[in-house]
Amino acid sequence: MPSETYLKADPELKQELADIARRIVAAGKGILAADESTATIGKRLQQINTENNEDNRKAYRQLLFTTNKEVISQHISGVILFHETLYQKADDGTPFVDLLKERNIIPGIKVDKGVVPLFGTDDECTTQGLDDLQARCVQYKKDGCHFAKWRCVLKIKKDCPSKLAILENANVLARYASICQSARIVPIVEPEILPDGDHDLARCQQVTEEVLAAVYKALADHHVYLEGTLLKPNMVTPGQSCPNKAKPEEIAFATVTALSRTVPPAVPGITFLSGGQSEEEASINLDAINKCPLKKPWALTFSYGRALQASVLQAWGGKKDQVAKGQDELIKRAKANSEAALGKYAGGVAGAAGDAALFVANHAY
Ligand code: 13P
Repeated sequence: MPSETYLKADPELKQELADIARRIVAAGKGILAADESTATIGKRLQQINTENNEDNRKAYRQLLFTTNKEVISQHISGVILFHETLYQKADDGTPFVDLLKERNIIPGIKVDKGVVPLFGTDDECTTQGLDDLQARCVQYKKDGCHFAKWRCVLKIKKDCPSKLAILENANVLARYASICQSARIVPIVEPEILPDGDHDLARCQQVTEEVLAAVYKALADHHVYLEGTLLKPNMVTPGQSCPNKAKPEEIAFATVTALSRTVPPAVPGITFLSGGQSEEEASINLDAINKCPLKKPWALTFSYGRALQASVLQAWGGKKDQVAKGQDELIKRAKANSEAALGKYAGGVAGAAGDAALFVANHAY
């Protein structure tokens, strides 16, 4: 029987964490990020004229988690849940966690408590939620979660991200990661650099390298066992309002270059966020990243929220008789991204949301 908590990375703890991380990034598999907070899922439901109440949130997540077992289990290895969702049950009384387990999907949990302003900066932020994190992780592990997510946000502006924002967010991510590991939970480390702004591809690459270098320095300082972690970064792209768009091959080259300069090969996998890319863009760019001829010592896969769910929401529209249509869309996108994670996506899989931009300014999760 493993202990509830560990004070250091004992061999059995290392083994357990590395196994979880490896299962999540098994070839051709990735994560469905369904951990939108109540406010954020409310914005998604509003777009399909559906009221943001507990019944509707549950109905929507039930749609996701009752998708065809044989098919979804080939593409999705983990789902990130929001606290409320972890404890919900399907209409027939089956706990959501059990629906996921039946599908060979590992339940994960968002454990951060959102972003807060960094005093004296140009609207920069850090992420809160450390105080009771140890106790929450122990409980979440008992309740079936084997990995967690904590999102930090960095912004590109003339003098941003500041040294303070880079160091503070790196440290809070490392502290979170060490607490998760002490409770036998694999931390997904997410330093998201927002796409807002008119900066070019080179600037995004330079900032991504600086941020990731600080994150891995902090993880080392905090004795985090890298083989039992995953990184969830932004892809390196030009800013949302940059006049020069980049081709998928350019995005892939800049992204893999930045990662190869900063992320140790001990990290088993990198699970990108979609960050406001359209569904098809997110698949094509992930495919290009996997086709990139540079050295790639980690699995490179997806942990998409918007880019896996936009078409599902459109097709479902909050209607009971459209559940199967929504599930078909989830399967389409999951399969496309699973192929992209292998560098074998041919492109052209259009969803109900079409190629709609999913960018949200100053995005909160
Ligand atoms: P998007 O894929 O919608 O960017 O969200 C992923 C996520 O989990 C952000 O924290």
